[in-house]
Amino acid sequence: MSQSEKSAIIRVQKEIIWHMSCGACGYYWTIPTMDEKDNPARREWTCPLCATKSPAEEAEI
Ligand SMILES: [Zn+2]
Repeated sequence: MSQSEKSAIIRVQKEIIWHMSCGACGYYWTIPTMDEKDNPARREWTCPLCATKSPAEEAEI
């Protein structure tokens, strides 16, 4: 394999996008992460629209 073929590799990485919905105002936003273990349901969040701070709960699928 030549040097140019090596550098032409397509590098892929998985991104996880969490969907967040504020229980107070209904605002919807997303949180992207590359870390499988980073679950946003394990901490509190402040809504970017109405500034209500609430614990998060993962929705049942
Ligand atoms: Zn809100």
